[in-house]
Amino acid sequence: MKEVVKGFRKIVYLSFPPESSGRPVVCNLTRLFDLSFNILKADISPRHEGSLTLEMTGLEEDFHKGIGYLKENGVRITPVAHKIFRNEESCIHCGLCTAMCPTDALTLEPSNRTVIFDVDKCSACGMCTRVCPVKAMTLDLEDDRQ
Ligand code: SF4
Ligand code: SF4
Repeated sequence: MKEVVKGFRKIVYLSFPPESSGRPVVCNLTRLFDLSFNILKADISPRHEGSLTLEMTGLEEDFHKGIGYLKENGVRITPVAHKIFRNEESCIHCGLCTAMCPTDALTLEPSNRTVIFDVDKCSACGMCTRVCPVKAMTLDLEDDRQ
């Protein structure tokens, strides 16, 4: 029997072409697919290309249907994990970024004083890229056409 996983959560980066930016496609995720969403970052203006970093929660099956619906409406979707990178060789585990990270994607492991990066919690806010003294964190905000 297929297991129904409730509470599926994913952070995605959406790019809207100008013709989609005025339509309520994101609001329809709740109405049509019973998904909850939390806007973590937005850069949208009418009649211009826009972007949203969205945390979506619901059933995994509904999440995939919602993603399909967004794509049908011209929205380009990139998992946040494809946007943010840590250079493991450069990181000196100074911990500065952990104080800035709003989602606890970067946390200090006290037992060995290393900084753990959990990309699944990252919202691609970019705060860590601004404080990292060795530029170990990089955020690629170029659109990936999918
Ligand atoms: S601020 Fe940079 S060097 Fe320091 S722990 Fe974070 S990623 Fe590593
Ligand atoms: S971009 Fe950096 S500071 Fe922002 S949520 Fe991701 S890891 Fe945390």
